[in-house]
This record gives sequence, C-alpha cells and structure tokens, in this order.
Amino acid sequence: MQLDVSSMAIACSTLATLVALILFAARRSYEPDIHASLTIWATALLFVVISSAPFAWSLAASLPVIIVGNSSLVMGYTGFAMALRRFMARPLPLVVYLIPLLVVVAGTIFFSTVIPSYSLRVALVIVFLLVLQATLVRPIFHSLRRGGEVGQRVVALSFLASIVALLVRLGWEWRPAATNGLWLADVDIVGVHMLLIWATPVVASIGFLLMCNERLMRATRHLAETDALTGIFGRRAILEQSEYAMISARRNGRSMSVLMIDADHFKRVNDDHGHDAGDAVLVELVRRLCNALRNQDVIGRVGGEEFLALLPGADQQAALEIAERLLEVMRASPIRHDAVIVPMTLSIGVAALEQQDVNLDALIRRADAALYAAKDAGRNRVALAR
Ligand code: GH3
Ligand code: MG
Ligand code: MG
Repeated sequence: MQLDVSSMAIACSTLATLVALILFAARRSYEPDIHASLTIWATALLFVVISSAPFAWSLAASLPVIIVGNSSLVMGYTGFAMALRRFMARPLPLVVYLIPLLVVVAGTIFFSTVIPSYSLRVALVIVFLLVLQATLVRPIFHSLRRGGEVGQRVVALSFLASIVALLVRLGWEWRPAATNGLWLADVDIVGVHMLLIWATPVVASIGFLLMCNERLMRATRHLAETDALTGIFGRRAILEQSEYAMISARRNGRSMSVLMIDADHFKRVNDDHGHDAGDAVLVELVRRLCNALRNQDVIGRVGGEEFLALLPGADQQAALEIAERLLEVMRASPIRHDAVIVPMTLSIGVAALEQQDVNLDALIRRADAALYAAKDAGRNRVALAR
C-alpha cells in the first residue's frame, strides 16, 4: 500500500485550516482563560498546516524548506502542549517550550550541512515530537480510566496513537537491513506516519474543543447550583440532592434524615447591625454548620436565613444528636462582626424518613412543622417531627 503524501498533505491541511478557523471563531463563547488556550491551540494547528505545505506543493527539499517544515511542526506540537498545560493550570516556564524549537533548528542545520543525514534529521524531529506529546498526554492520562471526560480522552488517545506511530517510524528509520523482506515492508510506514502527524491534531482539536465545552458546562452548572453568598447549594440543588438521596435510601433500605434549620430573630441582626453584618453572620453561620456536619452530609440554603441539611444514613436518634451539635457550636462561641458580638441562635426541625413520607415534599413538610414547633417552644432548640 502506497500513500500519496502530497494529496494527504493537501487534504489534512485544508481540514486543519478549517478546524483552526472554527476554533478561532468559537473562542468568544468562553471566558478569558479558555479563550487564551484556544488561541494558542488554533495557532498551533496553523503551524502544523505550514509544516505540511512543502509536501502539499511538492517543494524540493532545500535547507530553508526543511528548516521551515521541521520548525513549524515542532512549534505546532509545542503550541498544543502549551495550550493544554495552560488549560489544565499546569503551565511550564516559557523557556522550556523554546528548547525543542532551538535544538531542532540547530540540529536540522547540523545534519544537513556538517553531517548530512536524512535519518538523523528524522530521528531528531521524532524525539522532540515524542517528548512534546508525552508532555501533552501526561496531565490528561488519568481520563483514560473509567469515568474520564470524553474531551480529555479524545485528546489523550489521539496523541497516544501518534506516539505509537512515531515509535514505529523511528524503528523503521533505524531498522537493520535484514528486516527489509518482512511484512512491514509492504506498508507505507512513512506515509502512514505522515498521515498521523497531520491528522492527529485535527482529531485532537475536536477533543480540545469538547474539553473547553465540558469546563464551561461545569462552571455554568456550579453557578446554577451554588448560593452566591454562602457558597453552599442553593434551593433547587439541595432539593435535587435530597430527591436522589431519598430514592437511594428507599432502594437500599437505609435511614435518612433532614434538618430544617432557621436562624432565630435574624431580622434583628439586620436592624441592629446593618445588612452587611447580616450577610457576614450568615457566611460565618454556614461555615460553622459545614464544620459541624459529617462528611457525608449535605447542606443547602433554601431561604434567606433558612437551611436544609441532608443526613444520609442517619436515623432519628443520630439526626437528633447532629442537630444538638449544631446548636452547641452556636452557643459555644458567639459570632463577632467588627469586634461586636452578634447574638445568634438556631431553631431546628428534625425529620427522619418514614414509610408515611410518600415523597420528598412530605418529609420536608414534617421537618418544617417541627421547625415551627421549635420556634413556638421558645427558639434555640431542636424539635422532632411527628
Ligand atoms: P424567626 O426567629 O421567627 O425566624 O425570626 P426572623 O427574624 O429570623 O425571621 P423573619 O422571616 O421575620 O426574617 C428573616 C430576615 O432575614 C429578614 C431578612 O431581611 C433577612 N434576610 C434574608 N436573607 C438575607 C440575606 O441574604 N442577607 C441578610 N443580611 N439578611 C437576610
Ligand atoms: Mg429566622
Ligand atoms: Mg425564616
């Protein structure tokens, strides 16, 4: 099988140019950090396109053409490593990225003029491409395990395939003469290798765009789920979590409880100390609640000064103890704001999941009723749902 390198170069570079333009255009949907990574990636893709130009136009292999071809290929792959490392917040010092370029240019000149050797030139470029691709794959290698992100997997697999092709090509370039009759001689190793060198970046670019999208979606989801002031789940998210937890508890025959927590006389905090002080007290209150809850517990803000804590695996007795602990952390040391003590107590309604709770609403309604009972009984206390 013989591949026509010139046609491959034309096809791959046309595709790569189009994908680069799409990446440039897609940048505006993203925040500055992703925007910058995409700019570097798309520019790198154009360098790979430049590296294929001598083959596309069947240029004679003069020294300047070889230098431009080799250096743009290395710059392209350096750019991918740079973009990905920046994206993963694991950048390397700029000088590290310059080393491959400088060595490859110097080596290309050396192996073209001082010791002219095609094989040594090829080996030099391949070694640096191998190093660059290993640098690329390293921070996303974990994605190949179960549950990894699709975008990262596409990028990692693309470059891993390319690494294998580079190793085969390196072995082929330096094969002992005796192996010439083997089956590999029938395969156009150089052609396949060139195809992978040019096609891999196109496929990896799709993976990289997916990575950007996944990050954007995660950030958007986080914004939608999180309460802006306190950083815990907002109403919708904590209710959703509770729904899942309830289904799981029912299926596994496990206990589960919820706490409805309300700050006592919070309006007075605002009236006496100002709204900003009220905000600061809410933040400190949430910090204390999070510290006092167990690792598996989840808490969300369901109203202004009202919180829902979800206690998976906790029966009524365990939930009662946790609720008492929350009251205790508030009593133990008063909240201070600007060196002024802000009195703050909690009322908590405790409801453990029972057969009678046909749905989450029913369970929360019982916890709510218990909270009102705690308020009626004088606040700063826990009440059990009936
Ligand atoms: P109770 O003990 O009966 O719960 O009394 P309360 O004053 O805590 O309850 P009420 O519902 O009358 O008032 C709640 C107050 O919480 C009123 C509102 O201004 C305040 N609040 C709600 N959200 C925020 C917020 O995000 N920041 C601040 N500073 N105050 C808030
Ligand atoms: Mg209140
Ligand atoms: Mg309230």
